[in-house]
Amino acid sequence: MVEDEADIAGLIKHTLERAGHPDVRVVGSGDAALEAIAERPPALVILDLNLPIVSGLDVCRRLRAQPQTARLPIIMLTARTSESDRIAGLDLGADDYLTKPFSLRELAARVRAVLRRAAGGADTAPIVYRGAHLTADFDAVSVHADGRNIRLTRREFELLRCLVGNRNRVLSRERLLQRVWGYERDIETRSVDVHVGRLRSKLGPAAGAQIETVVGLGYRFVE
Ligand code: CA
Repeated sequence: MVEDEADIAGLIKHTLERAGHPDVRVVGSGDAALEAIAERPPALVILDLNLPIVSGLDVCRRLRAQPQTARLPIIMLTARTSESDRIAGLDLGADDYLTKPFSLRELAARVRAVLRRAAGGADTAPIVYRGAHLTADFDAVSVHADGRNIRLTRREFELLRCLVGNRNRVLSRERLLQRVWGYERDIETRSVDVHVGRLRSKLGPAAGAQIETVVGLGYRFVE
């Protein structure tokens, strides 16, 4: 937990302890955060953006730039007024954010959700994905490509979630069938191709091209 305001940090620590996370370490600056994380990587970082000297955004940027912490779950705390910070934070790859003032129950719920997703491994999508062309909020079921709102069917949405959740990794058609269609028996692997085709054309040339066909293997969402 990275927060320079001791009162807020104390409240959050107490809340998380009561929610079953006994091992909460509080640090009061970005420098201290980077040191503590390098020393002993946590399961999750709660990162206030408004910090002295090294800002929360800088901490986030540095964590994402290091392979060891590139996928470390991060929940950002932002001021209500700083929409630009929030967008920057999500662009830098934060998993979720909360706007101050927030309810402590809400925070505990977000922590639970982010940890659950992290425990699910690379197979689960982030809550919010923001790339150069694609923005997808998988909780709010909202997808934008180059600023356009994209309407997807449930299947297409699940397909996108699966591809983005496994970004930069190849997924076979069989795997996608299993993940997106479940165990419906009469579905053929060709259906995957059809749905990927539709998804690509809805996303448009730039975001659509991020879904690559890997000949003989399957599909991959590239960043
Ligand atoms: Ca602060």
